[in-house]
Amino acid sequence: MALVSSTPLLRAARANGYCIGAFNVHTLEMLQAVVEAAEELQSPLIIQSTVGTVKHLGADYIAAAATVASNRSSVPIALHLDHCSDFDLIVQCIRAGYSSVMIDASHHSFAENVRQTAKVVEVARAAGVNVEAELGKVGGVEDEIVVAENEALMADPGECAEFVRLTGVATLAPAIGTAHGIYKGEPKIDFDRIRAIAAKVDVPLVLHGGSGIPEEQVKRCVSLGMAKMNVATELRIVFSDAIKEVFAANPEENDPRKYMVPAKKQLKLAAMEKMRMCGSTGRADDYRTWLK
Ligand SMILES: [Zn+2]
Repeated sequence: MALVSSTPLLRAARANGYCIGAFNVHTLEMLQAVVEAAEELQSPLIIQSTVGTVKHLGADYIAAAATVASNRSSVPIALHLDHCSDFDLIVQCIRAGYSSVMIDASHHSFAENVRQTAKVVEVARAAGVNVEAELGKVGGVEDEIVVAENEALMADPGECAEFVRLTGVATLAPAIGTAHGIYKGEPKIDFDRIRAIAAKVDVPLVLHGGSGIPEEQVKRCVSLGMAKMNVATELRIVFSDAIKEVFAANPEENDPRKYMVPAKKQLKLAAMEKMRMCGSTGRADDYRTWLK
């Protein structure tokens, strides 16, 4: 089937009390690995690319590969642009075939964040594309965006409600204590804040910084209203470690298939683990109820 907007996938997830893993991919093999994982577990899937990966591969290449994967697949797949602050690039990705985009204007004032997000919602709505926006600041390093820990700001529940009302955004990523990258020690998730935001906001909520969050904390976040969990760093590490292992055993290896195949296999297993953690397995058909 064709790529689908992540809106019905995420509405179904929030309504049914699970979340959907959104996996950042950087190569064709990484994309194929997460698709195989979703297919095997009959899980809905969100494939993501960062702005850096769009610049590296090209939005058209990524969209073409994701479209082929989706056409071959029996599970619903959305293609999402992660953390983008560039309006023109968002439009370029929508034109290329992305079915979901994130406008990240969280580093601006509330009013400016509202203005930029509403502008993207207007363009995306016409194309049937989901929009995610961020409120507060998620700490850590995401691609080219660096937010120091002491600069990370939590989202205010009242502002979240106001933000969704003013922008019409379909999914919201409120900063609630998670960070991008790998945690030093345990993440300090503010569960009460998630509960307070979910009570005021009925759109699906997005958990950023999903690498290395312990399973029981993921489940608690999901039970409180998180419907999408972004995972990037952990998957990159699994993929790269598998390649390193091949070269450690055979430094002379020069057939890309010999190191890509095991890397793909390990990434698939890691993605399946996250899907089980998210509770999205066997949920491939739920979104149909939420199609307009
Ligand atoms: Zn993020």
